[in-house]
Amino acid sequence: MQTYDFIIVGSGSAGSVLADRLSASGRFSVLVLEAGGTDRRFYVQMPLGYGKTFFDPAVNWNYKAEPDPGLAGNTDHWPRGKLLGGSSSINAMVWIRGAREDFDAWRAAGNPGWGYDDLLPAFKALEDNQAGADTWRGTGGPLHVTDCSEAVHPLTKRYLAAGQQAGLPLNPDFNGAAQEGVGIYQISTRNGRRMSAARAFLRPAMKRANVRVEMNALATRVLFEGKRAVGVEYLQNGETKTARAGREVILSGGSVNSPQLLQLSGIGPSALLGGLGIPVLHANENVGAHLQDHVGINYTFKGRLPTLNQTLRPWWGKLLVGMQYILTRSGPLSLSMNNAGGFFRTDPAATRPNMQLYFQAFSTVIPKSGERPILTPDPWPGFSIGLSNCRPSSRGEIMIRSSNPRDYPKIVANAYSTNADVEEMLAAVKFVRKIASMPAMAEIIEEEVLPGPSITSDADLIQDFRKRSGTVYHPVSTCRMGPNPSRAVVDPRLKVHGLEGLRVIDASIFPDNITGNTNAASIMTGWKGAELVLEDQK
Ligand SMILES: Cc1cc2nc3c(=O)[nH]c(=O)nc-3n(C[C@H](O)[C@H](O)[C@H](O)COP(=O)(O)OP(=O)(O)OC[C@H]3O[C@@H](n4cnc5c(N)ncnc54)[C@H](O)[C@@H]3O)c2cc1C
Repeated sequence: MQTYDFIIVGSGSAGSVLADRLSASGRFSVLVLEAGGTDRRFYVQMPLGYGKTFFDPAVNWNYKAEPDPGLAGNTDHWPRGKLLGGSSSINAMVWIRGAREDFDAWRAAGNPGWGYDDLLPAFKALEDNQAGADTWRGTGGPLHVTDCSEAVHPLTKRYLAAGQQAGLPLNPDFNGAAQEGVGIYQISTRNGRRMSAARAFLRPAMKRANVRVEMNALATRVLFEGKRAVGVEYLQNGETKTARAGREVILSGGSVNSPQLLQLSGIGPSALLGGLGIPVLHANENVGAHLQDHVGINYTFKGRLPTLNQTLRPWWGKLLVGMQYILTRSGPLSLSMNNAGGFFRTDPAATRPNMQLYFQAFSTVIPKSGERPILTPDPWPGFSIGLSNCRPSSRGEIMIRSSNPRDYPKIVANAYSTNADVEEMLAAVKFVRKIASMPAMAEIIEEEVLPGPSITSDADLIQDFRKRSGTVYHPVSTCRMGPNPSRAVVDPRLKVHGLEGLRVIDASIFPDNITGNTNAASIMTGWKGAELVLEDQK
């Protein structure tokens, strides 16, 4: 059995950064176990390819949540990246860090070093922002962030104007001084190719002699001597293998897999483990609990001006954008569908935004089965204003169903299970209609297609968003960080409470969800986590 200083389970947003930072000095050997395969695939590298990878089992775990009463009984699709780069290799690339207040609340909950001012240096150091450096943005870091303001669809201007007519400020940078307002999204790409965590961090690290990456290697159990983690058991090509960690085992499998692997290793709710015949190594009721996620919905309109539908639907349009992409690495295929967006408050008395907006000059009311219909738009000029909640109060859980590591865990999201979450979404969808009714939009709207003009009462609006909402893929907090072992899984140094030599470093440690998309904060968690690991080495 081979021994490494560190074993990292998962090469996703956080795991890729860890592999890079822990190996950079050359002092430590690092093994990365990744259940999926390579990221060298056309639809991974091409930004808009996320429409294709959304259901592709070659790169995606394709989880299904349990039927959710809050979503009218629907079984929600939960994509998660299963390849080098993890979910950062299949995501929609919107680059949002979260709000100052989110991280300040993490620190106030007893996690020193996790406030916004503590983390800002990491956020700046890891990025290479095309818009240039300032108080908030960084340049020269490994991860390139693209400023799309010149590249977005012309209709975006109307969305920005309507947002302002509805009372929101124009925000030049959601990662800057303030979050509120409408603006154009920055995205994680470089020269028209996806900038995943693998591209920014893991691939360069793989050139080092002290880094080994095992692909198609499913970690099945953390190995212990007493209460000290000493290695990992994994399955590869039908064989059970083990590797030994001289210093630490680090779980970076993401919010679904990290709690699953802890539970499979005997760390979790004792009744659950006992019931499945798994010997309890360390009881902790918080493992897999406290699941938080963002849920969202689109309002779709038929317009009077051409949208991306007219470009992407006809065969000759596909050919043109395909050639444009291949020859110049530009055009719609080099972007996210989410050209613009914003943040707003549903309650004017609130101190900060609680809702996020997405503008897509594109619509897919008529989806094609088995494909996220990004490449099969509607035959008429359609566009969508989407929105998702930022800090919902509903809580779910992710728990194993058996002791078999290949069985997918049970994901119980409990979306819209609190009145507060229903009330704020009701107010939010009304605000989307307000934006659409502003002159800059109203004059080019032929009709609202979804949910449609017949849906007007509060009861109908609620029923509609329960039926049509779904995850926007930001699950967090299933191994949450906190100082108190009776309420958290890892401590503020990301060490698993009650055990030695074991940390969790990924989105599952977020004490609470952030106001915005979760990739940047997951990458920051990898960066900050690596600093903590290195500080603790003698
Ligand atoms: C479709 C989609 C769209 C999204 N859009 C955006 C967006 O536009 N902007 C944004 O900021 N965020 C977005 N996100 C969310 C963001 O990408 C994630 O929050 C982030 O990548 C999570 O990082 P992570 O390190 O926690 O986990 P991941 O990046 O998911 O990495 C986990 C890795 O561990 C591997 N792994 C898991 N279990 C095991 C095991 N047992 N053995 C070995 N390997 C294992 C997985 O295969 C995976 O590679 C999106 C996510 C999805 C799925």
